Amino acid sequence: MSPVAKLEVMNSLLLTGGRVVDPANQFDSVADVLLVKGKVSAVGRNLAAPAGVAKFDARGMIVAPGLIDLHVHLREPGQTAKETIATGTAAAARGGFTSIVCMPNTSPAIDNAGTVALIHERAKAEGAVNVFVTGAISKEIAGEELAPIGGLKKAGVIAITDDGHCVQNNDLMRRACEYAKMFDLPVMDHCQDYSLVTDGVMHEGYWNLALGLRGWPSAGEEMIVARNILLAELTGAKIHCQHLSAAGSVARIREAKKRGVPISGEACPHHFTLTDAAVAGSEKFWAQDGKALAHLSSAGPLPAWPAYDTNFKMNPPLRSARDREAILEGLADGTIEILCSDHAPHCDYEKEVEFDYAPFGITGLETELALSLMQLVHTKRLSLADMIAKFTVNPARLLNLKKGTLTPGADADVTVFDPDLEWIFEREESASKSKNSPFFGWKLKGRAAATIVAGKNVLVEHPQPAAV
Ligand SMILES: [Zn+2]
Repeated sequence: MSPVAKLEVMNSLLLTGGRVVDPANQFDSVADVLLVKGKVSAVGRNLAAPAGVAKFDARGMIVAPGLIDLHVHLREPGQTAKETIATGTAAAARGGFTSIVCMPNTSPAIDNAGTVALIHERAKAEGAVNVFVTGAISKEIAGEELAPIGGLKKAGVIAITDDGHCVQNNDLMRRACEYAKMFDLPVMDHCQDYSLVTDGVMHEGYWNLALGLRGWPSAGEEMIVARNILLAELTGAKIHCQHLSAAGSVARIREAKKRGVPISGEACPHHFTLTDAAVAGSEKFWAQDGKALAHLSSAGPLPAWPAYDTNFKMNPPLRSARDREAILEGLADGTIEILCSDHAPHCDYEKEVEFDYAPFGITGLETELALSLMQLVHTKRLSLADMIAKFTVNPARLLNLKKGTLTPGADADVTVFDPDLEWIFEREESASKSKNSPFFGWKLKGRAAATIVAGKNVLVEHPQPAAV
């Protein structure tokens, strides 16, 4: 084969016989997908592979637009002991994600064009998947002075957020929204009222009292969700509420969306799978709130963990069974349009301390597809197409990304997954540099079989361990 001919088949692949689910085109049917030179070339029956194009047998699998996770902490620059762009994107590839959006609370923070350029450069050199960058709302994420939002947009950020922190000054937030609207950037917000939450470490309810831990009340989230609804209405800016955990937040967003307010929300699998009872240890959890996870109860010995396990500490915290149900309902009725992980790696030495002192956050890129399938699709709360939309076309629409669809001409980003494959998430096998997941030892159902970025299967380089 001449070098020219060889070039032509690069980034090309024919996926045969899978169930193709492309919510952007309301397409759900068994079909082939032909990817040529990094773009989607055709979707249809009995497509022929052009000479030299490799085939991938997708029979029995789901073929979806490449999944997008719009809430990931890559920790680079500055915190590379926790994660790097190379390890974080390898975890994304494992999890079936072809595009991820990184948060700006790095060190230095992404509040300047130079840091945006640095991440773009490193992601291009070392990233297994596409990396999109968000910029900070405020300088150094300190909540005091606005970051140069126009300059950040010019440097290529796709949204602004102070995630990890929350702008408390409502006037500053209003001005951020006005600038963001001018530059056509969505504002993403980590909703936490500092005066209500103070130094709370877990949900304020029954279990924090029983365990003697300081409470983080639901009202601390709802207060800022309500503020954001008012500011979205006032300014017309698109405000997206990150990692929703409380029933009241869902109710407020549902009501505001009905009135046409440009507000949206996202949910993470830990908030719609676990509850605050998990902080009291596995026995307490399985005896009460864990009963709702029917798909696990027939699967042999249930995962075990001690009370005060810091892998169950995240921000916002795990909440009550009622809140978990409200998040599931919000996902089912379309109030919450986006699924994501809030992948937040931390080193063992940071997490292996008393609950009070451990940092908030867990890893999530490798488990979110399975947990979403288990809690939403296998339980019949959501159709497969609706779940896929929350990982593809919906985040793409919010962030104005030309991604999330298999329309011919689109980038050849495709996720192939087996929704029924059972596997155990093992600590030793995680691709993330950090091992702070509450789901190690869990029997999960559903896993990526190919993660195709620009026509190239990157799961080949970051392969999955064997199924059970
Ligand atoms: Zn956050």
